[in-house]
Amino acid sequence: MLIRKDDLVEVITGDDAEKGRSRKVLRVIASENKVVVEGVNRVYKHLKPNRRNQQGGRLSKEMPIDVSNVQLYCPTCRRGRRIGRRYLPDGRKERFCKKCAASLGALSKPRAAYAQKNP
Ligand SMILES: [Zn+2]
Repeated sequence: MLIRKDDLVEVITGDDAEKGRSRKVLRVIASENKVVVEGVNRVYKHLKPNRRNQQGGRLSKEMPIDVSNVQLYCPTCRRGRRIGRRYLPDGRKERFCKKCAASLGALSKPRAAYAQKNP
């Protein structure tokens, strides 16, 4: 999975899909290939009034959606894009936009094994 917490993504399918709108990833559940995205797949839990909560009311929270429903947002293209991964000269792995080739942030620390031998 190439999506990390705090990334900006575009939701491309589902009820909350909105073209060209970037939203923040709140949580990544790698084991289930799911992400929780701000304001997406919101559910409401209705609460009856009780002693602790005199008013009752409703709580809302976002539920996880499948990572295949989102694309990483490319600020250059100003929309979600397919992404690839590549190595920088210092051996860091980074993500890039497959359309415009802009860098979308490094994913790892520099690693000698992937560094360019003759920079
Ligand atoms: Zn792009």
